[in-house]
Amino acid sequence: MSDDSSGRLIILSGPSGAGKSTVVRHLLEECDLPLKLSVSATTRSPRQGEKHGQHYFFLSDEEFQRLREAGGFLECKEVFGLGYWYGTLRDQVTTGLKAGDWVILEIDVQGALALMGDNSLSPITLFIHPGGMTELEHRLRSRGTETEEAIRARLETAQNEMQQMHRYQFEVINGSVGLAVGEICQILKDQKEKHPCSKS
Ligand code: 5GP
Repeated sequence: MSDDSSGRLIILSGPSGAGKSTVVRHLLEECDLPLKLSVSATTRSPRQGEKHGQHYFFLSDEEFQRLREAGGFLECKEVFGLGYWYGTLRDQVTTGLKAGDWVILEIDVQGALALMGDNSLSPITLFIHPGGMTELEHRLRSRGTETEEAIRARLETAQNEMQQMHRYQFEVINGSVGLAVGEICQILKDQKEKHPCSKS
């Protein structure tokens, strides 16, 4: 898929609570590359302040499954076993890559592993985490957005996800957002040196 364009696909994943969304937001603002965030679809309800089309496309179960059957997703997964579906919209990725953008997918480990198996994508893969499970639990709890049941499910998933870290090309510890953003931006720029025909 990346053969006929100068765009690149970037997969950023890591356990829930690792601060991925904050890092991605800063990366988009501060990193001097043609980065574009792919907006996923989900069946979970919007959190306070989340906007349809900006944070996610919030779909009903029926809408999601219809799109799934129509081949609208590059990958999709039921995340956390709580019945919520998340999926990478094929259009978001193909449109961005064709325009020469560096398309960022902020997705869970299962989704990332599924896409790593697709040879046509050649993604740059990064795993971001806060340094350990204790810190992760602290961050999840202080966020205050999830029920106890959801926190426990996310911690259990996180434990399994940490074991897949070695499948990624780059590991980034998010101790400070500024440092993590700088590190990721530099990793991506180094990749650009290797693929000099990209849009600037
Ligand atoms: P949240 O509900 O906190 O926004 O996201 C929950 C998890 O779902 C996060 O780990 C996030 O990276 C993941 N996620 C978001 N969008 C997608 C997607 O399109 N596909 C997959 N596989 N995971 C996603």
